[in-house]
Amino acid sequence: MSEFPHVLPTYNRAPLSFARGEGAWAIIGDGTRYLDLGAGIAVNVLGHAHPDLVATLTEQASRIWHVSNLYRIPEQERLADLLVAHSFADTVFFTNSGTEAAELAIKMARKYFHQTGQPERVEILTFEGAFHGRSTGAIAAAGSEKMVKGFGPLMPGFRQLPWGDLAALKAALSDQSCAVMLEPIQGEGGIRPLDDADLKEIRQLCDETGTLLILDEVQCGMGRTGRLFAHEYAGITPDIMMVAKGIGGGFPLGAVLATQDAAAGMIAGTHGSTYGGNPLACAVGARVMEIVAEPAFLSEVNRKGGLLRQKLEGLVAAHPDIFEAVRGQGLMLGLKCRIAPGEMVKAGYDQQILTVAAADDTLRLLPPLNITDDEIAEAVDRLDRAAASLNG
Ligand SMILES: *Cc1c(COP(=O)(O)O)cnc(C)c1O
Repeated sequence: MSEFPHVLPTYNRAPLSFARGEGAWAIIGDGTRYLDLGAGIAVNVLGHAHPDLVATLTEQASRIWHVSNLYRIPEQERLADLLVAHSFADTVFFTNSGTEAAELAIKMARKYFHQTGQPERVEILTFEGAFHGRSTGAIAAAGSEKMVKGFGPLMPGFRQLPWGDLAALKAALSDQSCAVMLEPIQGEGGIRPLDDADLKEIRQLCDETGTLLILDEVQCGMGRTGRLFAHEYAGITPDIMMVAKGIGGGFPLGAVLATQDAAAGMIAGTHGSTYGGNPLACAVGARVMEIVAEPAFLSEVNRKGGLLRQKLEGLVAAHPDIFEAVRGQGLMLGLKCRIAPGEMVKAGYDQQILTVAAADDTLRLLPPLNITDDEIAEAVDRLDRAAASLNG
């Protein structure tokens, strides 16, 4: 009998395992240090083992871990206060992941129209290249062959449009429309930003047709672009927004933020989560928010994003056979490649640098937001050596 992997083999894992981390560095057992420009897929916004987060987590761990949402949770209320104070939202529901946040966003939007006497408005319009998670609802929303094949029948009521195609969106909006759901910058789809003008126009189309706008800021939110939330660049606000990844700084946490109006249908008993918003996650999340939402911190993210981008433009110029262009915003940057990006990821391992591949032949660079200038320079040197090893 063959030995089947005890860990379900749904990932093609690199043969690396990290014993500890320090800031932007992930360290394997023999002490070899890898410069971490993946940050656990845009999660570790303050790097590994940030002293404030370690202190907050251990202090909370010594007091109370879990009580369930049958009771008031002060740490959860504090984090909700912070998120409301720094965003468009009036109210927040906490989840353990981005996928769960997407599920609630979908439910909330449909419930809104049920509540307001238009129960026929169930259709959610999404865009090709989207990624909202791996639940049955989230894969139906994104609709890509890779994610849905073999998992049917899919949940009905979703329709994918070409990315950024506003004419297609205009034509698709109807009296059945419930919401438009999109990432201001597609992450898994290959660091593909939507123009600010387009996001403005989508907001306007939603207003004209009474359709809700759901933004998925699971990857691009929490300071990653140099603003707390990416949609701030376009000067618009959504009705519902999902966040996760960076919000817990590495502790599993997600959230749905909404206006009071959009949340109108979500009364007691309509949704729940056993773990969502537990004291450990929310204590850490509140500390992350206190640090990341500071204007001085965000302007540093902007400055460092500019620095990394400038150096990456040089890298593209130096290796035109490997790279085509840089795109993205702040410290959410992508290198569009002329080779399979997985080749660059592998060549990076040999230079002790961690990066993440994405769709559309894109190599993602998602460093901790507190990476230093020296580490940025070191990262680009390592990417340069990795690219040279492929050229050779
Ligand atoms: C990662 C991601 C999700 C899913 O989050 P999980 O925490 O993996 O469930 C949803 N949307 C976007 C934009 C993401 O990047």
